[in-house]
Amino acid sequence: MEIGSGATYGSEAGHANAGDGATSHQPGDASARAQLHHAAAAARIGPNAIIQTAAALSAVVSPQDVRCIFETAGIAGYLTAGPATMVGEDEVAALFHAVDLALPPADAAAVARASGRATADYIVANRIPRTVRNVLAWLPRWMAARVLLASIRRHSWTFAGSGRVTATTGRQLALTIAVNPIARPGCHWHVAVFERLFKVLISPDARVTHPCCCARGDTACRFEIDI
Ligand SMILES: [Zn+2]
Repeated sequence: MEIGSGATYGSEAGHANAGDGATSHQPGDASARAQLHHAAAAARIGPNAIIQTAAALSAVVSPQDVRCIFETAGIAGYLTAGPATMVGEDEVAALFHAVDLALPPADAAAVARASGRATADYIVANRIPRTVRNVLAWLPRWMAARVLLASIRRHSWTFAGSGRVTATTGRQLALTIAVNPIARPGCHWHVAVFERLFKVLISPDARVTHPCCCARGDTACRFEIDI
């Protein structure tokens, strides 16, 4: 997400999506067509979902356990060379699932939250120009929150992939991800990303709750933001 300059991040996504498996096969080759279909079907998500989860895991389990979790997810290669561009939403979903399988629920939730906070910190440090941060700090809190929410909505593919994201700016600020492709019960990663962004950029009192969740049978994940 890059507030105030979406074009840069958008072109990065376009590059990532164009690269998968399209050049090593002859036209008409069934395998090439299958890979192209897969590339078109597998939506992309920002690499921090994987990079920061690896870092969060490393803080609480051994390197061997980190490797085991990444192998379970089928993405152990990222431990050797971290993702430099966007990653497949299926890869992120597999990693989040593997973390939940490997760790006790409280520990898995703590890892997801640490990863989400670090992802938000990366966004604030690298994707939001200082001038925009200054404007957000200068605006009335209610207005700044709506500006931030709209920006998150515009860059929603970086955290929601193929999920359909809507933002609500009425009495209750909210983000909704219909058919969230990386949902896990409670969506601790998403909650932490959004809460950290609002705490740092809008108000230290900001809180995000998650009353509806695809991973618990709801049709959409809903995140409510109170500032
Ligand atoms: Zn959810």
